[in-house]
Amino acid sequence: MPAFHPTGPCWVCGGSSRTRFNQAVLDFSAWREQDPDLAACTGERIWLWHCRACGFAQPDRIPALPRFFERMYDQRWSDEWVAAEFESTCKDLIFARIRSTLGKRVQTTPRTLLDVGCHAGRFLRLAGQAGWRAEGTEINERTSAHAAASTGVPVHHLSAERLDELGRRFDAVTLTDVLEHIPQPVALLSNVRRVVADDGWVAIKVPCGPAQLMKETWRARLSRGYRATLADNLVHISHFSPRALRGALERAGFDEITVEIAAPECPPGPWTARFVRLALFQIGRHVPGGVHTPLALHLQAFARARRKTGSGLATTTP
Ligand SMILES: [Zn+2]
Repeated sequence: MPAFHPTGPCWVCGGSSRTRFNQAVLDFSAWREQDPDLAACTGERIWLWHCRACGFAQPDRIPALPRFFERMYDQRWSDEWVAAEFESTCKDLIFARIRSTLGKRVQTTPRTLLDVGCHAGRFLRLAGQAGWRAEGTEINERTSAHAAASTGVPVHHLSAERLDELGRRFDAVTLTDVLEHIPQPVALLSNVRRVVADDGWVAIKVPCGPAQLMKETWRARLSRGYRATLADNLVHISHFSPRALRGALERAGFDEITVEIAAPECPPGPWTARFVRLALFQIGRHVPGGVHTPLALHLQAFARARRKTGSGLATTTP
């Protein structure tokens, strides 16, 4: 069996007081031909624990394979699947909320935006239609190629850890359903901070760990044979509570932080399912403290990269 690294203290606050709450099961048998070493991890069970200090949750160990996450995300998707992802309207409510908020906060001309982990490129197209001069980064070769070809904008094939290599800064940086896939989120957000222009904004959307756990727990209770899971194959490795997401942004040097309930995905299917998702979202938005309730299945954060003043009144949090 391959070796595993312990993940150490809490990736957000450094705390070491923790509680185990769920096991992730690894099954990389689909990678058997393209990556036998990765496939050899199949069958391992890895505990997730949450930090008692900040509510962040992470696995207690991860495979020691070099470039583990890049290899895991090297899926050989079909051209048809990637094209369908680009055309899917499933996340358009989320994208609309991000465009609307950033559009009000960034008034420069031209307005530049970097979408980190841009997948098949749908948000790049929508941002371009809204007047943003957008670019993307994407680690997966197939989706990055489709994003570039379908939008005509630059899509850089590089991981979020290497954002510095761009050598440029943007008025807004977006990470939608990205941060939960990456370890050491504070280090990653510090990299993101360096590519946000002075007084620029970052928009982050992630699943809400505690609410997702509650949903999974109830689903397991109500569905015979269903096993509650948050992170099989470590697909989600960083699990944020609202407090942990705010803490991660603070530690990375952002301020003017807001964390709210994210708009829901609206996949195709019965209209009743979409109605329920939208109703729960609207109720959660209007309930005081709703972001801390199980109604907040996903979190949307906005934060500013304030310019440091020369007067000694530093406006960024170290
Ligand atoms: Zn913590």
